[in-house]
Amino acid sequence: MNNGVTGESGMKIIGHFINGRVVDIHSRLQEIYNPAIGDVIRQVAIAPKFLVEDAIAAAQAAFPAWRDTPPIQRARIMFRYKQLLEEHADEICSLIGQEHGKILHDAAGELQRGIENVEYACGAPEILKGEFSKNVGAGINSWSDFQPLGVVAGITPFNFPAMVPLWMFPLALVCGNTFVLKPSERDPSATLYIGQLLKEAGLPDGVFNIVNGDKDAVDTLLTDKRVSAVSFVGSTPVAQYIYSTATAHGKRCQALGGAKNHAIVMPDADMENVVSSLLGAAFGSSGERCMALSVAVAVGDDIADQLVAQLQERMKSLTIGVYSDKNDFGPVITREHQQKICAYITSAEQQGAKILVDGRNIKISGYENGFFVGATLIDYVTTNMDSYKAEIFGPVLQIIRAKTMQDAMNIIDEHEYGNGTCIYTRDGEAANYFADRIQVGMVGINIPLPVPVAYHSFGGWKNSLFGDLHAYGPDGVRFYTRRKMITQRWPSANLRERTEFSMPTMK
Ligand code: NAD
Repeated sequence: MNNGVTGESGMKIIGHFINGRVVDIHSRLQEIYNPAIGDVIRQVAIAPKFLVEDAIAAAQAAFPAWRDTPPIQRARIMFRYKQLLEEHADEICSLIGQEHGKILHDAAGELQRGIENVEYACGAPEILKGEFSKNVGAGINSWSDFQPLGVVAGITPFNFPAMVPLWMFPLALVCGNTFVLKPSERDPSATLYIGQLLKEAGLPDGVFNIVNGDKDAVDTLLTDKRVSAVSFVGSTPVAQYIYSTATAHGKRCQALGGAKNHAIVMPDADMENVVSSLLGAAFGSSGERCMALSVAVAVGDDIADQLVAQLQERMKSLTIGVYSDKNDFGPVITREHQQKICAYITSAEQQGAKILVDGRNIKISGYENGFFVGATLIDYVTTNMDSYKAEIFGPVLQIIRAKTMQDAMNIIDEHEYGNGTCIYTRDGEAANYFADRIQVGMVGINIPLPVPVAYHSFGGWKNSLFGDLHAYGPDGVRFYTRRKMITQRWPSANLRERTEFSMPTMK
């Protein structure tokens, strides 16, 4: 496995994967940090425009043969790929830990959720079956076919360097497309590693390519005529830009954006379950998940008082630190992001909220320069506060006090994001009402992170998703294919088309 070449500075340079080879051509180098120690550990090659075009050309050249490869053969490569991902899980998780800062079991969880998408893609011959109707007219049969789009591009965020790319390319590939992936430039090593494993699994050169880069590389993918479709996952302002630019250039696009996920805590909720699961959902992965529960809306002051008292108690025993199974979560991605999170906590305080547990000045012994933010709990938050309106993307849980369930639902519905939400209750009628009416794409009932499994599809509503189809699963198959309808008759002596000038109908 090529884990980068050593550059002039003595530091490893993470390159691109084009046409089956790792290349480190660059217009400039960008630093990659280990967020736990706060130091630069590698550099990533930022692709010049011609190199992105080379990757697109490689994918375009590989398309005709790959398109004609039977789905079962494409699926067999995915079977081998799944096995390789499992065999190399330690290396992949370690790279995630080094550059993202995720702790060991969280990295393993991310990889496992990614592998589940490979498992779904292994069913290619089944999921690509069209629909067949015999005798739609005398001697006429009709069937639908799902055909690939051609070269498709994926652009992915830093917070899941393995899982989110795996949401995209295994399915796109088994559908017969070729792929160019532009991973996050902040933690590209795990993505490059899993990309190279595809070659080992038997994928022909050029079918899958990776270019590392920034906005310039993305803009080339968005505007190049040879790219048919773009899948994006990242923040909402960038998602809006990607969607408008890709569609203006005639491409199919799905762009998943940011989030602000609320949990409603009803007076009859099982409080032990609420507290245990909220802690993990709010602070797991340092809150850097698009499904993180960052706001709890407690219905009634009594329940809010109980909730904050129990959360405060349990938060005393959270452990924050480096890549190890002993810790609950690690650092955030960059120094700038650490400062931004702390600034939101300060703004909440200045705008009248009460900081009950303050993670701003945490120091981890031996890792004083790491980008750590401690678990933070803020009470008496209101919907006009900046900390409420924005996606903080850090280990910060905010409490809003509502009078009724309907008030709590109105708060959620009025927020610009609609990715995930959860209700904690023992009342089935209330839960059903909530699930049916709430303006959010993924709903949990006593489940804090309702991330759909790989054989369903993932996607939010409102400003959390731009495009018509959700990611992976059945919607992913639709996104990565184009439907064709074929209608057939074999004329024979007593069954020939007559000349008809009216719209054909069954007579
Ligand atoms: P980001 O938007 O900064 O970057 C995402 C990708 O876009 C990266 O590959 C980056 O290089 C590229 N990019 C950044 N700025 C760009 C620009 N101006 N023009 C073109 N490309 C650009 O996101 P991030 O900080 O890497 O990831 C965190 C965000 O992703 C959060 O908002 C989180 O909610 C969101 N996210 C959403 C989901 C989801 O499923 N909805 C999943 C994971 C992450």
